Amino acid sequence: MKESLHRLLELQEIDKEISILERSKEEFPDEIERLKSELESARKSIQETEERVTELESGRRAMEGELETISEDLKKHQDRLYEVKSNREYDALQLEIESLGNRKDEQETGILQSIEDHEDLSGKLNEDKSAFSQRETEIQERIDDLKSKLGSVEGDIKGWMNKRKKIENGIEAPALSSYNRIRRMVKGGIAAVAIKKGACGGCFRQLSPQLLVEARRTDKLLRCENCGRMLIWKDEVLV
Ligand SMILES: [Zn+2]
Repeated sequence: MKESLHRLLELQEIDKEISILERSKEEFPDEIERLKSELESARKSIQETEERVTELESGRRAMEGELETISEDLKKHQDRLYEVKSNREYDALQLEIESLGNRKDEQETGILQSIEDHEDLSGKLNEDKSAFSQRETEIQERIDDLKSKLGSVEGDIKGWMNKRKKIENGIEAPALSSYNRIRRMVKGGIAAVAIKKGACGGCFRQLSPQLLVEARRTDKLLRCENCGRMLIWKDEVLV
């Protein structure tokens, strides 16, 4: 029985490995998708910033064109001041000159603001781009790693299954069937645990001295009263 009990612990370790691998078959593709969409949205946000930078540039060019037209118009009006004959005409012209002057100021302010916005946004764009390229490298490495692990997962599981079969053959039938039954019932599929410092290695509940004495004999199957897992005495984990 002692051999069987110790082999149950080995079996448990193998089953842990197998369930990690089984889980990775679902989790890795999900993670890959998550990483890809993270990259995609970062790429999109950079694209949007680039578009805004371009819009600012074309907006500024339009304002500069407008400014030129206003300035020429203003100059023509100012030249006409020397040609007017009546006070009324003079006053009207002055009003127009004033209005053109205001529009000129507005355009100039707008252009300055646009230059400032452009500088800010270009700076942000450069920062975003460099952060993106760093993150892109990290993500690509992680994706490659996940893909390569996924590529070998079936083979790895097969390898563990072969080892499992060999160990299974050395376990007495009642112990094995208990193990399999408990495995389906307990959380995380951990059915067999070693006793650690007088406590259950699964739920860490302290075990009674009598149970410890029985466990130490390693001549029968014992279960934790709290979590139902199989308790196995291993001398080396006592201390
Ligand atoms: Zn327990």
